[in-house]
Amino acid sequence: MASFGSIRSAVFDREEKKQQYQAHILGLNAYDRHKKFLNDYVSFYGGERQNQEKLPVKTDQDTLREGYRFIRSEEDDMDSSWEQRLVKRYYDKLFKEYCIADMSHYKTGKIGLRWRTEKEVMSGKGQFVCGNKHCSEQEGLASYEVNFSYFEAGENKQALVKLVTCERCAKKLLYRKLKEKEKETEEKRREKEEHRKKREREEMDDESGKAYDRTKGKKQSSTSRDDEDNFDEYLKGMFL
Ligand SMILES: [Zn+2]
Repeated sequence: MASFGSIRSAVFDREEKKQQYQAHILGLNAYDRHKKFLNDYVSFYGGERQNQEKLPVKTDQDTLREGYRFIRSEEDDMDSSWEQRLVKRYYDKLFKEYCIADMSHYKTGKIGLRWRTEKEVMSGKGQFVCGNKHCSEQEGLASYEVNFSYFEAGENKQALVKLVTCERCAKKLLYRKLKEKEKETEEKRREKEEHRKKREREEMDDESGKAYDRTKGKKQSSTSRDDEDNFDEYLKGMFL
């Protein structure tokens, strides 16, 4: 039976270990933390893995949901340390946080999405490397929230997931939207241009109308001047 003193020191040790772990991971950048968590994950749970049947190579969609992940009961979790639970939470979350995209039909607006395989989760594909299946860019990545419809356990499901892409692939991802916007802008531009031309035509018609009036006015006045002249002439004739 453990004495009070030894329990207290065990609790103290555990707490100290936890604080050290926290301090260590806080000092890491996202990628190093990722590596640390996954390494720890393998060292915490890797042993059990050996007992599970070797996985056959499967298609993208099959991979995860067929239960090759470590199956742990709640009881197991109760026994595990804080660090173990933390890395397990991180590891589990990764599978349904980021996805991988097939952009081969991006021009039609069809982007295929799937969850990541374990290998991809481990290597950081789709998280620290562009999520386009055929791209391995690691620079200039941005995360996009995409609506993912998938089929799992006999059900159609939908989830908002993250797709991380490089700049070039982001253009593919947004290709249709960008095209639509371009088209819209082009239509607006053309409409504006039409409107401008129409206004110009109207103004021109208006101007020529005014010009015509002016000529008419001029003619009228000159006519009247002519009349005046004639009148002068007439008066002149009268006094002479
Ligand atoms: Zn890319």
